Amino acid sequence: MAGSEAAWQAANMGIKVVLHEMRPETGTFAHQTGNFGEMVCSNSFRSDDSEQNAVGLLHWEMRAANGLIMQTADQHRLPAGGALAVDREPFAEAVTAALKSHPNISTDYGEIAELPSEGMWIFATGPLTSPALGEAIAKETGTDRLAFFDAIAPIVYAESIDMDVAWLQSRYDKGETEEEQKAYLNCPMTKDQYEAFIDALLAADKTEFHEGETAGYFDGCLPIEVMAERGRETLRHGPMKPIGLTNAHRPEEKAYAVVQLRRDNKLGTLYNIVGFQTKMKYGAQAEVFKMIPGLENASFARLGGIHRNTFLNSPTLLDDQMRLKSRPNIRFAGQVTGVEGYVESAAMGLLAGRLAAAELSGRDMGPPPGSTAMGALIHHITGGAEAKTFQPMNVNFGLFPPLDGIRGGRKGRKERYKGYTDRAKEDFSQWLEGQS
Ligand SMILES: Cc1cc2nc3c(=O)[nH]c(=O)nc-3n(C[C@H](O)[C@H](O)[C@H](O)COP(=O)(O)OP(=O)(O)OC[C@H]3O[C@@H](n4cnc5c(N)ncnc54)[C@H](O)[C@@H]3O)c2cc1C
Repeated sequence: MAGSEAAWQAANMGIKVVLHEMRPETGTFAHQTGNFGEMVCSNSFRSDDSEQNAVGLLHWEMRAANGLIMQTADQHRLPAGGALAVDREPFAEAVTAALKSHPNISTDYGEIAELPSEGMWIFATGPLTSPALGEAIAKETGTDRLAFFDAIAPIVYAESIDMDVAWLQSRYDKGETEEEQKAYLNCPMTKDQYEAFIDALLAADKTEFHEGETAGYFDGCLPIEVMAERGRETLRHGPMKPIGLTNAHRPEEKAYAVVQLRRDNKLGTLYNIVGFQTKMKYGAQAEVFKMIPGLENASFARLGGIHRNTFLNSPTLLDDQMRLKSRPNIRFAGQVTGVEGYVESAAMGLLAGRLAAAELSGRDMGPPPGSTAMGALIHHITGGAEAKTFQPMNVNFGLFPPLDGIRGGRKGRKERYKGYTDRAKEDFSQWLEGQS
């Protein structure tokens, strides 16, 4: 996705591009063909609503920027209500044909196993980056392990948390500043609520591992339901322990268990549920997590999940041009930069292609402003996200700077989302105009 889009954008800006691909010679467990733009799992680009949905807005921006992935998806669209579903085989064949017939693009098949020290490169090798290259990247970036089974915890929109139930407090009020002493959001549970929650966790539908993968979890990163299977009290002595916390609404009541949420971005609009990495199926997650007091009406910016993933700690390793700080001739793009999903990956390819082409042409080009969907994503991965807890991210409105004069909370949501998308479209159009 990202490599195809990057090549297309740079080639359209007059740059000669060599597009490297290791398939079909060297495969991955998920890809089936040697085509560019192969969708490895679902055939959906998710919502196409560019007024009320952040991924729909990303579609809009990619179309405005003459994106190959979006224009080809539009040509091979399948009926799917408000979503953009794609006929995957003709889609990938058309992406491949467009790239191969571009006068500025040549292709070179074979695995790249090193980070080259000369030339300008964009590495868009995805969540299934080949092991040899993964090792080379890990060596360069000082990361011990880059590829692992990624257990992701769900992320909740702060505005959807019931603050009449939840309260802000760090365990034992730890921290020097008030901000640190109130770094966590706490949701209390009675014994009955805890028992019902454990029952629901144990009964929930879980995702099985894909063929070819073997489960190897990081220590301290066990899925929540695996912990529950080890004993009904395990969670109460682990991520749900109630000690060191006093319910700010009812100080006299001692909670039997507490679920903690930690801020996930600098804006404070997103919170992740601490220690709640899970392999429950999406539908089951929404049901089970809404049993947590304070989260009954939670909206999720991202649900949890487990799959093999290779991604950089981009907030520390990449500059705002997506270049590796230690080797500025190398850019990264796509899922390997810590975005998640076909559309987000292709969008980061679009930016990397344009930024690299501008640099080669001696032109000054910055990324789009943070008020746009592409800008919000690139700002998140190259600095806005907390580096310590950095996890792959879908585009969502929680990444956007707040709007002045529009009310918060659930009631104002429609108006607010329209405000975000109107502002983004204007700012993105201006950014594009600045380049022509
Ligand atoms: C099992 C699985 C299921 C997924 N399901 C979905 C889903 O349903 N919906 C969704 O939106 N996202 C899904 N994703 C995430 C999805 O992979 C990304 O959204 C998207 O494909 C990433 O795009 P990308 O361009 O970064 O990587 P990819 O599309 O994977 O492209 C990377 C390319 O680099 C090539 N490559 C890797 N290493 C080398 C090397 N050393 N030398 C040369 N070439 C190399 C690969 O062959 C591949 O063609 C899934 C991921 C996995 C692993």
